[in-house]
Amino acid sequence: MNGTVYLVGAGPGAPDLLTLRAARLLERADIVFYDALVPQEILVLASKAEKIEVGKRSGRHSTAQHFINKRLADAARKHRVVVRLKGGDPMLFGRAHEELSYLREHQIRFEIVPGITAALAASAELGVALTRRGAARSVTFVTPRVGKGERESSWLRAVLHADTAAIYMGAGEAGEISRALIAAGKPASTPVAIIENASLPNARRGFGILAHLEEIAKKSTGGPALILLGENYRDSAIIDQWPGVQPSSLPTARATPTGRARSGSSR
Ligand code: SAH
Repeated sequence: MNGTVYLVGAGPGAPDLLTLRAARLLERADIVFYDALVPQEILVLASKAEKIEVGKRSGRHSTAQHFINKRLADAARKHRVVVRLKGGDPMLFGRAHEELSYLREHQIRFEIVPGITAALAASAELGVALTRRGAARSVTFVTPRVGKGERESSWLRAVLHADTAAIYMGAGEAGEISRALIAAGKPASTPVAIIENASLPNARRGFGILAHLEEIAKKSTGGPALILLGENYRDSAIIDQWPGVQPSSLPTARATPTGRARSGSSR
């Protein structure tokens, strides 16, 4: 039998942010390969499926990815509906490229079901838009992680040039990120927000400026966390939530040194 592999976005964590299409597919699924961040409430929808955790925390090797690719293809030879369930949206920092290439190469049918990515859930959590008419016209999604043997990516340049940046998988190296950005010329006073567990009841938000990113990130409790950065987060609606900062004492981009002279790029 040759089935179809569905790459399905599970959304940011809240079970009811799953799309209806994803829910219907899960009900039909024969087998589900899921990531570590996918909540139980979503997995139970796949009531008749065999469920296999293949979740990788970042930093593992491509052999593990190769193994997942192969398991997907093998499953499609045995089952009609094979679901590969990923956190957020499968097409953003979800290794979809590797899986799709493998499936294409082995002539396995696939379909993609989008999901709500962390940056969108985090923006909702914060109540601050990623864009602003006339002021913030560009948004970049980056991750500063570079795996062993991978090329250095252009994340730094992208963050320097975009009005708003959403930094995935970066909270654990917030200090390096902030030093690298400041050394590259991003003003140390750029407002930042860190949102942990966006969309979930235990969501936490931290605010401040780029120079303090490391300290803000240290308050996280270890859940998935997204860093947002840009002038939009100097928003009056959130300034009063900045710990210990009076709106009047908020540094402006011009009043604070950029830190260009500092060394300490993270790589
Ligand atoms: N494909 C996923 C991203 C996978 S990378 C998506 O589209 O969202 C995993 C990273 O996503 C985490 O390190 C974190 O930076 C971010 N993330 C995922 N879920 C999150 C959540 N509920 N709140 C905040 N950040 C989250």
